[in-house]
Amino acid sequence: MSQPVGIVADIERSSTHDGPGMRTVVFLKGCPLHCVWCHNPECIDPRPQELFYPDKCIGCKRCAEGCYTGARVICGRKMTVADVMREVDADRGYYGREGGLTVSGGEPLMQREFTLALLREAKARGIGTAVETSMIYWDEEIFRACDLVMFDVKLPDDERHKRWTGVPFAPIRANILRLAGLGVPMLARTPVVPGVNADAATIGEIAAFLRDIPAVYKYELLSYHPLGVAKQRALGQPETQFEIPSKQLMEELKQYAFLR
Ligand code: SF4
Ligand code: SF4
Repeated sequence: MSQPVGIVADIERSSTHDGPGMRTVVFLKGCPLHCVWCHNPECIDPRPQELFYPDKCIGCKRCAEGCYTGARVICGRKMTVADVMREVDADRGYYGREGGLTVSGGEPLMQREFTLALLREAKARGIGTAVETSMIYWDEEIFRACDLVMFDVKLPDDERHKRWTGVPFAPIRANILRLAGLGVPMLARTPVVPGVNADAATIGEIAAFLRDIPAVYKYELLSYHPLGVAKQRALGQPETQFEIPSKQLMEELKQYAFLR
C-alpha cells in the first residue's frame, strides 16, 4: 500500500517549547486561519513557496542552480512517513517518558492522512505523540492517536476572534469541549499580543472557560515575538508587527491565567 506523502515546512529537533520533554517537531504546510501575528506565515499556504532574503543575496545570478547563501529558500518539501520517521527516530534516546513527536504547522489536521499515519507510526515505535492544533477541525481518529493535544485559545469571543484570525471562536470552542470528552490530556496556551488580547479581562475569561475542563492540565501564556515579520517580508506579504509584552505585563497576566 502506498504511504501518504506530506508537504513539510520544517522539522525541528531537540525542541523544548512544543510540549513536555524533548521533542521533534514536524511543521506541516497549510492553515485555514490567518492570525495577524502568525510567527509561521510560511506555513499558511498549503503549497510550497519561495522566501527571498535580500540581505543574504550576493548577486551571483546562479539562482537556477539552487541558492547556497540561503537568500532564496523553498519552504515545503514532499516527504513520506518513512522520511520523517527517520529523523524522529534519530533522537528517540533523548525523548524519555515525556517527550516524543509533535506534529504542528500550520494546521496539521489539514493534512489529516499524513498526520494520522505519522502519529500511528510513532506510537507503534513506542514514541510519545502530540499534535499542536488550532482546534478548527474535529478528527477523533487523530485525537485518539495522541498522548497530548496542544491548542491555543487566542480570544474568547467570536467578534474579536474573527477579526484577528479570520474565523469565529464558536467552532473552536465546540471542538475543545468535545475533545474534553475523549479523555486525552490537553495543554492550552494563549499567545499574548498587545492590542489584541493582552488584558486581564480577556485572559481571565479564557481561563474561566478552560477551568471547567478537567482534561486541561495546564494553561500557559506565551509572549508575542515578532519572528514572523522577516518571513512575511521574505514572502512578499504585508508586514504586521506588534509590541513585545513586557516581563511585568506577562507576570501580571499570569495572575489571571490560573486553572484551579
Ligand atoms: S543564487 Fe542566491 S545569492 Fe545568488 S543571486 Fe540567486 S538569490 Fe542571490
Ligand atoms: S493558527 Fe497558527 S499557523 Fe495558523 S495562522 Fe494562526 S498562528 Fe499561524
